[in-house]
Amino acid sequence: MVYNVTLIPGDGIGPEVTEAARRVLEATGVAFRWDMEKAGADVIDKYGTPLPDSVLGSVRKNKVALKGPITTPVGSGFRSVNVALRKKLDLYACVRPCKTYPGVPSLYKDVDLVVVRENEEDLYVGIEFERGTPEALKLIQLTAETKRGNISEDSGISLKVISETGSRRIVRFAFEYACAYGRKKVTAISKANILKFSDGLFLRVAREVALGYPGIEFEDRLVDNMTMQLVKNPRQFDVIVAPNLYGDILSDLCAGLVGGLGVAPGANVGDEVAVFEPTHGSAPKYSGQNKANPMAVMLSGVMMLRHLGEEDAAGRLEKAIADVIVDGKNVTYDIMPDSASGVGTSQVADAVIEKLAAG
Ligand code: NAD
Repeated sequence: MVYNVTLIPGDGIGPEVTEAARRVLEATGVAFRWDMEKAGADVIDKYGTPLPDSVLGSVRKNKVALKGPITTPVGSGFRSVNVALRKKLDLYACVRPCKTYPGVPSLYKDVDLVVVRENEEDLYVGIEFERGTPEALKLIQLTAETKRGNISEDSGISLKVISETGSRRIVRFAFEYACAYGRKKVTAISKANILKFSDGLFLRVAREVALGYPGIEFEDRLVDNMTMQLVKNPRQFDVIVAPNLYGDILSDLCAGLVGGLGVAPGANVGDEVAVFEPTHGSAPKYSGQNKANPMAVMLSGVMMLRHLGEEDAAGRLEKAIADVIVDGKNVTYDIMPDSASGVGTSQVADAVIEKLAAG
């Protein structure tokens, strides 16, 4: 069987790390037909958009994609291609496992948790009102008229939107994931003490959904407490389900607990389509230097193999990566013990392929 998979290299370090991942995936013996699709700032001149229809069309057709990071301009410029892709393909669940691999310098041993982040709602709906525009002033007037409060006229406004439907399906996803992967507990994250109508709704729905899964322990935490608890004792957590922004922040925090973004994979999953990509961004300062750690994309590839039902290949690839880490010689700077300089991105791929060949 040959799998048709869309390959989106992305930009910054994306092309280097996805190429390394493509090589090790092929070395498992599973056959792929890659459909290479470009997105991001580099294609705007050609297509008039950073997310051409051909990219969406390819992912919809193949139903599976492996993706590198794509840069989003900070504070101005075009909106995130990554967010748009998740929305247009209805990839409502972002799954980010954080697990300690022996040999990765990290603060903790034996951490094995999964962040399930809602991927489409919350502050990421992208509905914003720029300071001083007639729309912003109208909204400010409405809040005053409806006695919601007085907003200063020089404010910019971004909407935080959380629906019952969106909350129900992400919490259900987290419980179903827990059942499928033998996980014992789900922790729901919110700031429901302050944000009663958005996070409050998320939490109420989470509590309702939890009643349908009596075999899985359920608890909830306020996000500020959660950050402290994670740093103090991450081993107490198993599956964490969170609205979009908290999920984004907590998944980087959890990546930090297990040794950093270089070993933090991820998947964006919908009912029809799944796009596998690392938690990390495009790390522009390392772009084109053969320096970035490709293991987060490789481990996203392991998740992709499991999604395709290729459990044996997934296990072999994960073990090969783990073995390279334990050896400690062919790893990049970020997980090199004793802060030595580390090898290049492509050398890591060579070493993983060698381990796969050795069985
Ligand atoms: P980043 O993840 O790119 O980098 C954070 C830190 O981690 C940097 O020090 C970086 O050098 C390091 N790092 C990241 N990946 C690494 C790797 N594979 N190996 C070794 N070190 C690595 O986050 P940022 O700097 O906040 O964002 C840079 C750009 O990436 C921004 O434009 C942002 O919007 C974008 N971004 C994209 C995605 C995505 O495509 N899904 C995700 C996050 C950020």
